[in-house]
Amino acid sequence: MRTAVFAAACVAGAAAFAPASVPLRGNTQVARASAFTPTLRAPTTAAKVARAQAAPAITMMAKKSVSTMGDADLKGKKVLIRCDLNVPLDGKTITDDTRIRASVETIKYLVSKGARVAVSSHLGRPKDGPEDKFSLAPCAGRLTELLGQEVKMAPDCVGDKVKGMVDGMKDGDVILLENVRFYKEEEKNVKEFAEKLAAPYDLYVNDAFGTAHRAHASTAGVTEFLKPSVSGFLLQKELDYLDGAVSNPKRPFAAIVGGSKVSSKIGVIDSLMSKCDKLVIGGGMVFTFLKARGLNTGSSLVEEDKIDLAKELEAKAKDKGVKLILPTDVVLADKFAADANTKVAKVEDIEDGWMGLDNGPESTKMIIEELSECKTIIWNGPMGVFEMEKFAAGTFDVAKALAECTSKGAITIIGGGDSVAAVEKAG
Ligand code: AMP
Repeated sequence: MRTAVFAAACVAGAAAFAPASVPLRGNTQVARASAFTPTLRAPTTAAKVARAQAAPAITMMAKKSVSTMGDADLKGKKVLIRCDLNVPLDGKTITDDTRIRASVETIKYLVSKGARVAVSSHLGRPKDGPEDKFSLAPCAGRLTELLGQEVKMAPDCVGDKVKGMVDGMKDGDVILLENVRFYKEEEKNVKEFAEKLAAPYDLYVNDAFGTAHRAHASTAGVTEFLKPSVSGFLLQKELDYLDGAVSNPKRPFAAIVGGSKVSSKIGVIDSLMSKCDKLVIGGGMVFTFLKARGLNTGSSLVEEDKIDLAKELEAKAKDKGVKLILPTDVVLADKFAADANTKVAKVEDIEDGWMGLDNGPESTKMIIEELSECKTIIWNGPMGVFEMEKFAAGTFDVAKALAECTSKGAITIIGGGDSVAAVEKAG
């Protein structure tokens, strides 16, 4: 069993891919007795039946994969492949080459079919144009070693020089384009930039799973200009996995949605609501729900204009027989700071002047009990302000509980940059 760490369930670039058939993966799991929590409501039998009957009808659009393309499709073709080579660097030294190694399978496949391959990626967060410390040049060296053939570094990702290099490639050659984020048009998905990026090539492969959820020029924009646009093996593997795990989950299926605001997670909550059995709400958005229940939330983060939405979501959960789980106690702080004074209080006892920045220990225990019987768990967004030590326990303890569930056979899928950072921080 495994934990898939992904960036988000929505794959923007992949959305442009043509349909193809995708096999689903099976899995095994452990069931445990569920712990009853007095504050929570159990799903009605009718709702459970309705959901179980509806489950087989839920499917995700399958995407065309590079695996369906053979010599005839690829030989001599100029292929733009978007990988995620965003590796950690110490100066010019790559300290972890996992992402480069993960990209090799698809590149090797393209090379073996005689394609002419230009690899593109971002690296870090350059602020304003090219910066030497964010150059992908060190990755060209590592790719050369891993592929066993020279990978030339391009001076740019667009323009005449790049076109010249691409036109000069022979079948099976590989070059690495410079950081696409040296252009601010990349993240803004500017159409003209995407067109320039796509210009030298015949077709497009997206294998950048960690970036594919973002509609950037190199992940989504280029698909307007390159046909076909297909997924690489890495992306396909993750899509298959997510498709099987989320659309046809082993139950009970719990979704944990945390982070700062309801407004930014409404799509995720809404979509998971029709699939999951338990929905754990965490992070800052908790307080909009608590306020919607008529509780005092002190100076906690509350989206006043989303209180009605929180009420609607509670009603929807009830309607669908989804157990909506909110914390019963929280860690309060007298200011939003690492050195704040803190105390734990029941959610009914939040006083003015205090803000909730993490789940309390009773809530964490209850959440862990709820998760322990689940066979599929998907998690997006931290339970609290985990970046500050005093408010990290709720998130780290859930991370550890997920590791425990995984070791017992559950499928656990963790998404969102912050959740992934939290999991890494929690070890
Ligand atoms: P998001 O990008 O929406 O997933 O939110 C992640 C951010 O939410 C993290 O930086 C957390 O520090 C923050 N966060 C989590 N819980 C709270 C909270 N109770 N109040 C304010 N911010 C929070």
